[in-house]
Amino acid sequence: MLSVRGLKKYFGHFKAVSDANLTVNQGEVVAVIGPNGAGKTTLFRLISGQLKPSGGEIIFKGRPIGGLAPHQVCRRGISLSYQVVSVFGRMSVFENVQVAVLARRRQVHRLFTPARRLAVDETWEILESVGLQDRAQAVSGSLSHGDGKLLEMAIALGNRPELLIMDEPTAGMSPEETQATIELIRRLTQKMGLTILLCEHDMELVFSVADRIMVMQSGRTIAEGACDQVRCNQQVQQAYLGEPADA
Ligand code: ADP
Ligand code: MG
Repeated sequence: MLSVRGLKKYFGHFKAVSDANLTVNQGEVVAVIGPNGAGKTTLFRLISGQLKPSGGEIIFKGRPIGGLAPHQVCRRGISLSYQVVSVFGRMSVFENVQVAVLARRRQVHRLFTPARRLAVDETWEILESVGLQDRAQAVSGSLSHGDGKLLEMAIALGNRPELLIMDEPTAGMSPEETQATIELIRRLTQKMGLTILLCEHDMELVFSVADRIMVMQSGRTIAEGACDQVRCNQQVQQAYLGEPADA
């Protein structure tokens, strides 16, 4: 589904990403791991179109997407679960998801057509899939951190992506919220057929949800493979020994 080869991103002379390589097959959960500053977020922003590559290629479903604008990448079927700051805090949970659904249906200017009713059904469906149906009328800004992350995911799902990209989905979550997110990720792939690319510090989460792992260090891919393969890789262990204990 997705193939990244020799991808590069330079900020001036600084090589944030110098040689990223990644394969994501349909239906997989693929995790990108690596120390802080390895280039994981930059990689995701390159794939989602927020940054233009300095070199290399990104192929999605057989077509190059490197350098396309975010809305074009989104239309091809890739959605990035955004940071909570992009949620409209004064709107309800329901409205936030509905806006995403309507934007995809491109009916934003005709809110009183039947499309709006269809969007209502779809919005409920998405809220149920992430478990936020009971919070639908809550003001988004009042959500707990964990529910806010679920709302980000629901908004991303409003685009009906084939590939959902999540940047540290459980950052700042409680152990219970983390567990719920692990279950959600499993449900999204197994029941909804979604393909997921995520990066994550929590190794327990990585090893419990990922089919395959790609390891980045200083902007390059140093390993890619099945969980067990990667766990035993010496270069990977070394990369992690350099990581501060609190990371
Ligand atoms: P990770 O997500 O793996 O922690 P990032 O992709 O956020 O790493 O960052 C990789 C490196 O690129 C870091 O050294 C970071 O400071 C640098 N970087 C990221 N974005 C920019 C930018 N817009 N301008 C300059 N340097 C950046
Ligand atoms: Mg990051």
